[in-house]
Formats: sequence, structure tokens, C-alpha cells
Amino acid sequence: MQVLSGFVERADISELLNRLKICDEYDKLEFEKMFELASEIARPKAIYLEGYIEDRGEDFVVINGVKFTSRILKKNLEKADRIFPYIATCGTELDSIKFSDDFIKQYWWDSIKTCYLNIARENLMEYIKKRFMLKKTSTMVPGGSEPGLWPIEQQKELFSLFGDVERLIGVKLTESCLMIPNKSVSGILFPVEKDFNGCKVCRRKNCSGRSAEFDEVLWRSLEIEASLRIKK
Ligand code: SF4
Repeated sequence: MQVLSGFVERADISELLNRLKICDEYDKLEFEKMFELASEIARPKAIYLEGYIEDRGEDFVVINGVKFTSRILKKNLEKADRIFPYIATCGTELDSIKFSDDFIKQYWWDSIKTCYLNIARENLMEYIKKRFMLKKTSTMVPGGSEPGLWPIEQQKELFSLFGDVERLIGVKLTESCLMIPNKSVSGILFPVEKDFNGCKVCRRKNCSGRSAEFDEVLWRSLEIEASLRIKK
């Protein structure tokens, strides 16, 4: 399991001003003040782990000892042996500030939070792909009430893979399985095609699908390369 934070990238104010259609000079000044505050305090974070599919049934998979029941999840993970559960968040620092008495400002603030969530998620995805030599990947997120989908209630199982997520990255799960901060996402990243190079950077023991030995030197060099956009 690894926590990623200290992303070098910052939100882009011009893109936000355009997207939110803020043209009025007074509004621009107000937004700029808000943006500066956000830039100072924002600490987006992400966490992931290597998960191994230990068992499969008609409508379930077992990942690191935890059973997930969903036909579509089972189907999508058919070709994967190693997958990457993750959670990314804008961070509690941004979430602790509210503009409850001002609807527009709250909307602007939420848009800034979304930018920082995207920074956490995109950096996380890029990091995992580099670190584990993944080519084509896809993601699945819990949610949806249709039979066969991956029910939102299985956020509980997903969170249980990590232990105390609130202590690790500040994300809490409510009784109804929503995440706090509201600008947080969780899911599973998985390779969609067999790429045997990945075995060189996989420490799974006793894998019947292994096609190459674990390569410690390659593993270390990828760790350095993948960390370039993250401050220590
Ligand atoms: S050893 Fe290779 S096939 Fe087995 S889980 Fe790791 S990457 Fe997948």
C-alpha cells in the first residue's frame, strides 16, 4: 500500500475562469482571492495497493481476501490477475472551508476542489502505469443500482482493503457509502490486456501466470521515474 501526496501540479486559474464563465471584474477579483487561498492550502492525496485476484465465481471475485459480488466486476477482471484498488481526494484541507451562506462561492470552491481531485487522480493513474509497466488500462468504480452492476455498498469492502482510510488520507465513508470530502473517488484500475512485461515488476508469489522473474533493478528504476512529479 502506498500514499501519494505532494503533487507538483497546481490548478489552472485561466481554465477555471473560462469554464465558470467569470467575466465580471469584481467577480474575477473575488475568485482570484479564493483561488490563491486554495493554492496555499490544497493537499490532494491518493492511496493505492496491489491487489491479487485469489478466487473467482459466477458473480464474484476475491481480492486480497475480500469478496466483491458483482457480475460486471467479475467479467471486467476476467483477464486480470493483478489489479490496483485506489482512492483519490482533493484533501481535507480544501474540504474544511465552506461558503454555506453563498451559493455561487460554494460552487466556485467545489470547482476548485474538483481540479485538485483530478490532479490527485491523474497523477495516481500515471504513477501506477509507470511503476507497474501497464499499457492499456481501464477503471471500475462502485455505484449503480441495476442488478449485476457494482453496488455502491461495496465501497465498504473496497475501503476495508486499506484499513483506516481516514487516518491514511482523510477520506471517510458515510453510512450511505458516500465519501467525505465530497470530491473523492474510489475504484479499481486494471490492465485490459495481458502484458507479460508486467511480471518483471510484480512480487506476487506462486502465480501460475508468471512469465518473467521479478527484476529488482527495474523495480527500483521505475520507482524513481514514476515519482518525478511528486515532491518527497
Ligand atoms: S506474476 Fe505476472 S501474471 Fe502473475 S499477477 Fe503478477 S503480473 Fe499478473
